[in-house]
Amino acid sequence: DAFEQQSKLNNILLEANRKLDFYASMDGLTSLYNRRFFLKLANSELERARRYGHPTTFLMLDLDYFKEVNDEFGHLAGDHVLEQVARMLVAESREADLIGRLGGEEFAILSPESTLQQATRLAERIRTRLNKEIINFDGHSIKLTVSIGTAEVGSEEPDIQGAMSRADKALYKSKGTGRNTVSIAETES
Ligand code: GH3
Ligand code: MG
Ligand code: MG
Repeated sequence: DAFEQQSKLNNILLEANRKLDFYASMDGLTSLYNRRFFLKLANSELERARRYGHPTTFLMLDLDYFKEVNDEFGHLAGDHVLEQVARMLVAESREADLIGRLGGEEFAILSPESTLQQATRLAERIRTRLNKEIINFDGHSIKLTVSIGTAEVGSEEPDIQGAMSRADKALYKSKGTGRNTVSIAETES
């Protein structure tokens, strides 16, 4: 009857909306969270962490000389590298870590219940692993490195904006001191 039809249609619409939300949250190439959704999730995670007094840390990552990968091996090779790096980030992180592609060859990880020391260990693990890895594409063996900045979110900070900007500064320090490096931001007091 009409009521049954209506409720079927509602279910279809609900399901379609869920799918749209899901795809709108995802980066198409790497299947990581896109920037917008990463920031949204990161801020709600922070709210929770603050309530329980848990430490939370933030990692900002940027591939080194990535433009050269595109220039030397082509854009498809560059895309493949981004996909492989994303897989590696997932493999090295914990289940609870949020991983996002902020744009281009720039990634971020929010690590709940982890101290700056633990986050720095994670960053160092990612850095050394990529440094050792050879990414194969279309008969080419591609090698590249990553620069990372880590920062702790202060217990009084309302959102991740501050920690992001400190991690970004630390990242640029890594870039300035030869890349393939992890730098730690000073903790906000
Ligand atoms: P740096 O060590 O200073 O970070 O140098 P870089 O070459 O990594 O940085 P730069 O910002 O000069 O270049 C980033 C390049 O990333 C340029 C852009 O074409 C490329 N890029 C951004 N998004 C994508 C993408 O989705 N796929 C591919 N293949 N390349 C991308
Ligand atoms: Mg780069
Ligand atoms: Mg960049």
